[in-house]
Amino acid sequence: MKVKNDIIVMKFGGTSVGNTDKIKKVADRVIKSKNEGLKVVVVVSAMGDTTDNLIDLAGNISKEPGRREMDMLLSTGEQVSIALLAIAIQEKGSDCVSLTGNQAGIYTDDAYSNAKILHISNARIIKELKSGKIVIVAGFQGITSNGDISTLGRGGSDTTALALAASLGADYCEIYTDVDGVYTTDPNMVPEAKKIEVLSYDEMLELASSGAKVLHLRAVEFAKKHDVILHVRSSFNDNEGTWVMDKNIKSEKMERPVVTGVAYDTNQVKISIFGLTDIPGVAAKLFSEFANANISIDLIVQNVSEKSIATISFTIKNEDINEAKRVLGYLKKSIEFKDVNIDPDVAKVSIVGAGMQTHPGVAAKMFNLLGNENINIEMISTSPIRISCVIKKDRIKNAVKALHTGFALDKEKGL
Ligand code: ASP
Ligand code: MG
Repeated sequence: MKVKNDIIVMKFGGTSVGNTDKIKKVADRVIKSKNEGLKVVVVVSAMGDTTDNLIDLAGNISKEPGRREMDMLLSTGEQVSIALLAIAIQEKGSDCVSLTGNQAGIYTDDAYSNAKILHISNARIIKELKSGKIVIVAGFQGITSNGDISTLGRGGSDTTALALAASLGADYCEIYTDVDGVYTTDPNMVPEAKKIEVLSYDEMLELASSGAKVLHLRAVEFAKKHDVILHVRSSFNDNEGTWVMDKNIKSEKMERPVVTGVAYDTNQVKISIFGLTDIPGVAAKLFSEFANANISIDLIVQNVSEKSIATISFTIKNEDINEAKRVLGYLKKSIEFKDVNIDPDVAKVSIVGAGMQTHPGVAAKMFNLLGNENINIEMISTSPIRISCVIKKDRIKNAVKALHTGFALDKEKGL
């Protein structure tokens, strides 16, 4: 059991620091926590659309800008935010210091634009906290062993916050965002969606990897590994948000619903390889080539082969489509297959819930609900607490609504 050390990490996303008025409000919030007697570390993202705008600027100059230079460029967004927030906090009479990833001791590998945090040397942060300062750290960035600036992948400020919380043994990590918490599904698509009170790390991981955009996947992995309690909440009001933690801690809170949330991902492309000679080692060869090209594969389905001829279908992300075509081109030389079909008009819908493990019939119910809407299921994959189906993209809204209603997620709890 962790000892309370009164350190909290507060992370504010791009919309929460979108302009100087909002930055002043963030300053108030941070100072309030400090005045409650907490040692406060703040992590901020770049203001509003800054990161996108910086990417566009580089795009005006080059189709394939160097990745090291892109990280140099993108890291400036967060540097603006930390400085402005520090100025706002000082203006209100509180003591604080802003630190870049480098100054905060966040060391990463050199996978520019998608770097992983290797370790954090937190001595500087601890020194500043001890001297009574609020410490403001630039999210999304770190430093390689060569001293070059790296970034952690889009949305990476969450990961900075969680990694700092883990390293400092913080009591919890608050993620302030433009929504009230994690919802049973995307409220923009289904207005009846409800805020979820508590989620386990595994549920949050499954939701995040199934397309729910509230938290960076790697951040949740950090939280789980280091047992950091997470609170996802709105930066525009004081409402309680969604807690993500080991379920046992808050178990009194719940009679667990079987399905906790419905997530979807329209950023999917289905590739089918027909007439594949079905001999040992073919799948290994096929997927090794995709792995070597850094293309992650999501769902995979292989049919029962007839006369040693099989079909394998799998899904990848939209942005990997050109690279995938290139891989398929040279695979043609080393393995035998008849034909390839690439279908970008697919999407994945998933239901997630820890209660699924102990309730039979959840898959059947899901397929029934989709069937009743006349939605064809093209692929299926499951984990102990998730079921995902690949369907046609133009039916996704339909599917999400049907599942959300079918599993009673639109009902107030306790009814
Ligand atoms: N500014 C970065 C991005 O927009 C990191 C973040 O917001 O977490 O992806
Ligand atoms: Mg952002």
